[in-house]
Amino acid sequence: MSSSSIPEHLQWTGDDLAGAVLTGEQIQQRVAELGETISADYGDTPPLLVCVLKGAVTFMSDLMRAVRLPCDIDFMAVSSYGAATKSSGVVRIIKDLESDIAGRHVLIVEDIVDSGLTLNYLRKYLGARKPASLEVCALLLKEGEQKVEQTIRYVGFTIPSTFVVGYGLDVAEKYRNLDGIYTYQGEGS
Ligand code: 5GP
Repeated sequence: MSSSSIPEHLQWTGDDLAGAVLTGEQIQQRVAELGETISADYGDTPPLLVCVLKGAVTFMSDLMRAVRLPCDIDFMAVSSYGAATKSSGVVRIIKDLESDIAGRHVLIVEDIVDSGLTLNYLRKYLGARKPASLEVCALLLKEGEQKVEQTIRYVGFTIPSTFVVGYGLDVAEKYRNLDGIYTYQGEGS
């Protein structure tokens, strides 16, 4: 990103980033709306929010505070990408849930859906434990990239198909701590 278009607080990122896809303010506004919708939809049956680590951690921490229901939280860690920016299609469970989800209303909180392979795998994996319901809230959906047909109940934003970082999303563990979402134009992009 040229130093003229880079916000003052992101000067440390250097030339790896192109323009902002979403600003922190836009994300916060949408997260608040999602929280309202989820609160209204679940009403008397508060969901168990399942955060898919590490990328969804920022989204989860904002979303859970926007949901006005007494919901529980749990975490899973999966690995679908290495340090590269292309999906391997191979999903590995690194950390499983601590909760028993049988009979519970589970809402998977995901950062981004690209090919959809990760989500497809997770749905089957968690669906086998017989939750009362299993839905997905994804902050980002990459336009036209899905290889598997999916119904994603809550989508924050649909974005063009470029590799993005920030707001929890990384490249080789970097840039998770940006408040907005940016196109990555560094090595490997
Ligand atoms: P999928 O299986 O849908 O192709 O990929 C899903 C996972 O790949 C996401 O949970 C995320 O970890 C990673 N991913 C997909 N697209 C991007 C992207 O543009 N940027 C980053 N940082 N990770 C991505």
